[in-house]
Amino acid sequence: MSYDETNIFAHILRGDIPCTKILEDEHCLAFADINPAAPVHVLVIPKGSYIDWSDFAQNATDKEQAAFTRMIHKVAETTGILETGYRVVSNIGQNGHQEVPHLHAHVLGGAPIGPMVSSR
Ligand code: 5GP
Repeated sequence: MSYDETNIFAHILRGDIPCTKILEDEHCLAFADINPAAPVHVLVIPKGSYIDWSDFAQNATDKEQAAFTRMIHKVAETTGILETGYRVVSNIGQNGHQEVPHLHAHVLGGAPIGPMVSSR
């Protein structure tokens, strides 16, 4: 599977579609989820064209990977959820229910997030 340049996060990175930016650095962008599932719901994405976590883990540089990890922490710090706790989720592929094929981490907090996965 190759990277789809028309996915919505690629448009956001190109500036074709607006977002509510939380933080940005050389390698990553963090912005508010358009349909928040918690009081704080921020998406962290790499600026490079990576489909999902496995693509990123195999093909991103060490600098990109370190920046992504640190950006997630900085988002928690900036949004004030570091002390109360938060959840980081990345959906991957069909069974993971990934809707947008550009790697993203959901950072969720601001209230108890509930069980890790819904029971069947
Ligand atoms: P996934 O299911 O792929 O892990 O999550 C995709 C997320 O992207 C969803 O939580 C959805 O609300 C969010 N999303 C989809 N389109 C947009 C958009 O245009 N702008 C923003 N900020 N978030 C979006």
